Amino acid sequence: MRIDHEGPGPVRRALRFLAAGVLLAAIVGSLLLGWSFRAASLALPEVAVPLELPSPQVPPGVGIAALPTGSIRARAMLAFRGGAIDDVRDLAATALLVRHPRGDLLVDTGFGTAFDAHFAALPALARATSTYTLQKPAAVRMRENGYDPRRLAGVLLTHAHYDHVSGVEDLPDVPVWASEAEAAFIASGDPLSELARHQTSGRLRSYRFDGGPYLGFERSFDFWGDGTVVVVPAPGHTPGSVIVFVTLGSGERYALLGDIVWQLDGLSMPAERPWLVRKLVDHDEAGVRLAIARVLALRRLDPAIHLVPSHDSRAYRDLPIFPFFAK
Ligand SMILES: [Zn+2]
Repeated sequence: MRIDHEGPGPVRRALRFLAAGVLLAAIVGSLLLGWSFRAASLALPEVAVPLELPSPQVPPGVGIAALPTGSIRARAMLAFRGGAIDDVRDLAATALLVRHPRGDLLVDTGFGTAFDAHFAALPALARATSTYTLQKPAAVRMRENGYDPRRLAGVLLTHAHYDHVSGVEDLPDVPVWASEAEAAFIASGDPLSELARHQTSGRLRSYRFDGGPYLGFERSFDFWGDGTVVVVPAPGHTPGSVIVFVTLGSGERYALLGDIVWQLDGLSMPAERPWLVRKLVDHDEAGVRLAIARVLALRRLDPAIHLVPSHDSRAYRDLPIFPFFAK
């Protein structure tokens, strides 16, 4: 009897090749994922510690209040490097109302009345890795409490991502303020600022950082010129991201950090976002690290400062919910 040894046929060869490819991709993928999400000490750039704290003459009536609009449920491992896969966090989407005798400012809007549609328009990966809960849109909470949105001098954006601008359309005729660099990002056609481009069309106002150094940041923009609301550039997460400092009559100081970090752990560890997440959502990683370093230097000078990353619900515990204000 004669046995042929012709070797595997072309189909079997192709299947083996495919299996080897899948195995290799799985190994490389898991190594990359493991490296991307594992805890790692964060090398921060050297920054100058600010020398003294300003003490502005805060006019009577200045206050700050939180307007929770909802939250996004996500695993800590996605929010910061070293976060656990079984640690589920509710990432707050909270607008902040800064009351001022010359005009109130709403810092970001959180989720608006059309948030379902805004979320549905996100890329599949973003939708697949998180779920959300809706609370009251800022405009609805204002209306229910008899607050006239014409009191707003504007919506002041920390940055232009969808979860910060979703409620802009609920406040028609209110100007939207963004730094010059963020206004350019909004106009750029980048998918990450697409919603902002629609929402702010015809009422976007940009400002320059024409003021001097402030709390360790090189330049500043004093919104009312009295030191109560001072904005500084903190580019990185987006090209024109900012930090908004609010000082109350009591002397209490708030740093509204936007998305420099998503959770307070990012500052306490400190830790940046996982590599894979940074590649998807951050414009310039080095800029984010510089901003983290400056915020930590500031906290060494002023341990009592309230550091408020936009999405950490724990950071809002000290703040009353609108219509009540911290003063
Ligand atoms: Zn963001």
